[in-house]
Amino acid sequence: MVGPKVWSVLIVLTLALCAGCSRKNLANESAASRNPADVNGARILAADREPGNWMIHGRTYNEQRFSPLKFVNDKNAGELGLAWHYDLDTARGQEATPLVVDGVMYFTSAWTKVFALNAATGARLWSYDPKVPPAWAVNACCDVVNRGVAVWEGKVFVGTLDGRLIALDAGTGKVLWETLTVDRDARYTITGAPRVVKGKVIIGNGGGEFGVRGYVSAYDAGTGKMVWRFYTVPGDPSKPFESPILERAAKTWTGEWWKFGGGGTVWDAIVYDPELDLLYVGVGNGGPWNSKYRSPKGGDNLLTCSIVALRPDTGEYVWHYQEDSADEWDFDSSEQIILADIPIDGKPRKVLLHAPKNGFFYVIDRENGAVISGKPYTFVNWATGLDLKTGRPIETDIARYPGNNPPPIVPGPLGAHSWQPMSYSPLTGLTYIPVNDVGFKFKSTEGFEFKKLAANYGIDVVAAGMPQDPKIKKAILDTVKGKLVAWDPAQQKQVWAVERPGPWNGGTLVTAGNLVFEGTAAGRFDAYRADTGERVWSFDAQTGVMAGPVTYTVNGEQYVAVLAGWGGVFPLATGEVSFRSGRVRNVSRMLAFKLGGKASLPPLPEVEEPALKPPSTRASAAQVARGERLFQRYCAACHGDVAVSGGILPDLRYSSTLSNDLWYHIVLDGQLQTEGMVSFAKELSHDDAKAIRDYVIQRAQQTLAQEKSAVQAKPKADAK
Ligand code: CA
Repeated sequence: MVGPKVWSVLIVLTLALCAGCSRKNLANESAASRNPADVNGARILAADREPGNWMIHGRTYNEQRFSPLKFVNDKNAGELGLAWHYDLDTARGQEATPLVVDGVMYFTSAWTKVFALNAATGARLWSYDPKVPPAWAVNACCDVVNRGVAVWEGKVFVGTLDGRLIALDAGTGKVLWETLTVDRDARYTITGAPRVVKGKVIIGNGGGEFGVRGYVSAYDAGTGKMVWRFYTVPGDPSKPFESPILERAAKTWTGEWWKFGGGGTVWDAIVYDPELDLLYVGVGNGGPWNSKYRSPKGGDNLLTCSIVALRPDTGEYVWHYQEDSADEWDFDSSEQIILADIPIDGKPRKVLLHAPKNGFFYVIDRENGAVISGKPYTFVNWATGLDLKTGRPIETDIARYPGNNPPPIVPGPLGAHSWQPMSYSPLTGLTYIPVNDVGFKFKSTEGFEFKKLAANYGIDVVAAGMPQDPKIKKAILDTVKGKLVAWDPAQQKQVWAVERPGPWNGGTLVTAGNLVFEGTAAGRFDAYRADTGERVWSFDAQTGVMAGPVTYTVNGEQYVAVLAGWGGVFPLATGEVSFRSGRVRNVSRMLAFKLGGKASLPPLPEVEEPALKPPSTRASAAQVARGERLFQRYCAACHGDVAVSGGILPDLRYSSTLSNDLWYHIVLDGQLQTEGMVSFAKELSHDDAKAIRDYVIQRAQQTLAQEKSAVQAKPKADAK
């Protein structure tokens, strides 16, 4: 067994050797003679011998997002400048981590478009558009995002929003094979990056809030034929179970959960452990959120909110660890998993590091799934700690939102940490986590009815909305924050933190140059000293930066690249909360930096502030209240909580259709279907559509009144 100290020595030695040799060696001298994306298991296993490449999602199989490169370091990071930028033709959230192999960068944008660029110049080599039908957007909980591609033996693999897995020729972008991985009658989406393990492409999907049943599948990389599928929740128990673990899992469910699918989707984390030949997948929340409607007589609801270890060749179950039993908070455990060897009580242990939505940082023995330690990495009020004997959280009295007016739960469904990848440095021994501090008011609702086109939470979506009393609103908004936390997993403690005005900041990258890179919700791209958190460089990215950065070399020059472009569930769904870091716009582009980079971004075009001109309405309070309930359930996930848009999709308060019949043509007849707004006629009547409109008009009038009183309250400039 090789301990962490030995690894550190090896890394230092490797770097010392490379510092003495030609810089070209880092980028791989044989790059020119290689075929495009000529990547296989042996090459990935030896990834540290070619740190100039970033060949898989988390750079190496352990997905630490640590780079041994240090041409750019804490001494010279101030000299970083833009080397090039590549502008994208979408205006939605960008979440992809690019891959870089032998001087070529491969990545995805929103709508699952795929790009191959010259990694030194940003020149496009090819692009591919899978033509996801815009109407499929209604099936996505969290924007039409995608988190990246996998490459293997000359192919580029991508999972599309509408559930296809596609293999492209890495040299040309031509489709080699394509297969449908989901039932198109259900609201499945793919947003996660595939991983290739031993010649199999592994892919999951999302949709836990919309009535789907979670699973992860493996496809033959050469042919696209399915090799295995592992379901994460049991199906109808009157039918045969697909695997023995599901028979066990079914005993932890009650009622008729399978009618709503059960959730448990594997929408992001998939990690391969070559040492133990295990595949770890992170499983999402149960659906509906409120367990009263999912599993009415109790039960842990396995394998929701769990990390599950599988055999990559067969999909056979090996072990699981459930982080939240009988989840009721959308506490997905699908957040990225890092593998590391860290000292525990003086002895190196093979562990898995996990900071899921629920706010606890877990160190888990990856040989058997036993939890070694778990501590909150930020403020939580739903649990006081972890019972290490049972592995279960010790829940507080308010955790399961009892009564009619329970206090907000922190963290909320946004998660204390979501998909934005964290990183781990074997040199500092620290994990760098983008943390969200956002609570959520859960209140159980009566008479839940599953609706295919709506969000199916089983909670009171009106109670969850932002109150309009200015004092209450301010008090809530004041609690919403974000931070970059450097966490010591061995000691389970924070070493340093950088406070942010708001949440939903970017994924992190850590390098041997003692640097941590992170984009921000405020539109910056920053570098910090990895050991102290001192900021050493900052760039105005003109847009919110959420994605995970990477670093690579071409011809001996080190680049740092990040996909910029604000979006995702946060600005789509959370309304005013999403303005905490300022009102950033979506400007989607790949940004690449190097020492002495001289490129610059074009100035942002001015945007005209729209005028608020709501018509009058004679709707009764009851009608407006009915409209509010419908809005919060059908519209808020995209157009924003209480009709405040985060700026990515239209803010309906400003819509001219509030005054004419176009409203009904759009909501009921699908007039804007080609732009992603489907018809809701199957579930909403004309009266419903009118009630929603009356509510939006009332919100627009309310906003106008608030704006006027704010202007009147402002002191005159010349008044002393
Ligand atoms: Ca979820």
